[in-house]
Amino acid sequence: MIVMKFGGSSVADAGKMRQVAALVTGARAQRPCVVLSAMGKTTDALFATARAAEAGAIDEALATAATTFARAERASRELFGTDSPHLASCVAALGAMRSELEVLLRGVTLLRELTPRTSDAIVAHGERIATTLFAALLAAQGVDVVHQDARTVMRTDDRFGSATPLRGEIRSLAALHIAPHLARGAVVVTQGYVGGTAQGFTTTLGRGGSDWSAALLGEALGAAEVQIWTDVEGVLTADPRIVPQARPIASLSPAEAAELAAFGAKVLHPATIQPAVDAGIPVTVRHTLRPRGAFTTIDPRRAAPARSGIAALASRGPVTVLTMTSTRMLEASGYLARLFAAFGQLGICVDLVVTAEVSVACTVEPDAPIERLVEALAGLARVEIARDRAIVAAVGEGLRGTPRTVERACRALGPITPELIGMGGNERNLSFVVRQQDAAAAVQRLHAEFFGEAAAPAPAGTMEATS
Ligand code: ADP
Ligand code: ASP
Ligand code: MG
Repeated sequence: MIVMKFGGSSVADAGKMRQVAALVTGARAQRPCVVLSAMGKTTDALFATARAAEAGAIDEALATAATTFARAERASRELFGTDSPHLASCVAALGAMRSELEVLLRGVTLLRELTPRTSDAIVAHGERIATTLFAALLAAQGVDVVHQDARTVMRTDDRFGSATPLRGEIRSLAALHIAPHLARGAVVVTQGYVGGTAQGFTTTLGRGGSDWSAALLGEALGAAEVQIWTDVEGVLTADPRIVPQARPIASLSPAEAAELAAFGAKVLHPATIQPAVDAGIPVTVRHTLRPRGAFTTIDPRRAAPARSGIAALASRGPVTVLTMTSTRMLEASGYLARLFAAFGQLGICVDLVVTAEVSVACTVEPDAPIERLVEALAGLARVEIARDRAIVAAVGEGLRGTPRTVERACRALGPITPELIGMGGNERNLSFVVRQQDAAAAVQRLHAEFFGEAAAPAPAGTMEATS
């Protein structure tokens, strides 16, 4: 079997859903399990609805919810025509979901409290709406389809808002609720992003989490391939919104893909790769509207692509840079352990660390509890804080072994002076911390140097074409 995951833009309206249905029915021989995101922008709208309810603006909250459902009903009318039984059942299912959502929103307003648990129950409606429409569309086309509620399969812990999937349990539940349907030739349609606890509460895997759902189901079901269908021809050499000339990359190693995702390439959720890699399953990233176009393969069974230069660029910001200084660091063993223990206690994640003799600099998320960290480090180190920075990362297998890469990168940055440079934590990542306002220009300059028309040719045999 295969997993086919379609992102929000791929299921944004009736026309797109029809195209997705054509791709799914065209792949029936491969026994697809279809994982859907919410129709584009729906999740953002549902978060806004929840916030409005929390602020006591129930009319606004209900109006936003009504808009979301009106859009879904419009799409279902376009899909099924007005006197189809499929329209009637779709509208009934949408009505039931809308009533449930309204009850939740009124509860939030009454209490003026939006807990992560309630928030998950609210935002999961986006994916539930999308699969309701799509399963009905396949049924209307005569396909044997099973609409599987992800909450019965995607078992997670109860960290609402960014729940951790419980992979062993997901495997058993998928064997019970999904595999038999696939085995008899039915298409299974389920929600990405959404999970459920053992007690039956709705959870979510964090923004962008549908990719992760797809890989987890791929692992659980022993898929031959996990296909991530989106609005770009695979992973490109840079974010096309920053570099319009960015090119598709035919193949990436799992480590390169994970690194790019972690450093901001939104095309893949950072955790996606791991379950597929663990299970030796190839992941492909493809364009829903250009199914015959270029795509990217990330195949853990294959040797890393024979590339010694940069595969792609990514950037992430804003981040905050903390520079911790103390002369007590001089030749003091265990000092860094004590320093970072404070980060651990406050649950602060560190991305990039660079050390000098009496100081350590690192990047953290902008919403990290920095004041409390500074208090916790009092007496241990003086902390300087620089906000609104970004990490720009060049990623590629064996990057360190490629002559002159650092020199070329620094030269390409020109007037943009990096405040931190990190390399060698592994062999595939060269990272620069720049001011957030310079991040896009930094990516563009690096892209022109390493991938541009006028890119200086790399020394023979050190860089391979990436498309
Ligand atoms: P989906 O809704 O299908 O999950 P996303 O919006 O999450 O799609 O991810 C696709 C988007 O990721 C692209 O439209 C593009 O703007 C962005 N992106 C960022 N970096 C890259 C990259 N290196 N290659 C391709 N797309 C990228
Ligand atoms: N719909 C969710 C989001 O917008 C999950 C996803 O698209 O992957 O974050
Ligand atoms: Mg996504």
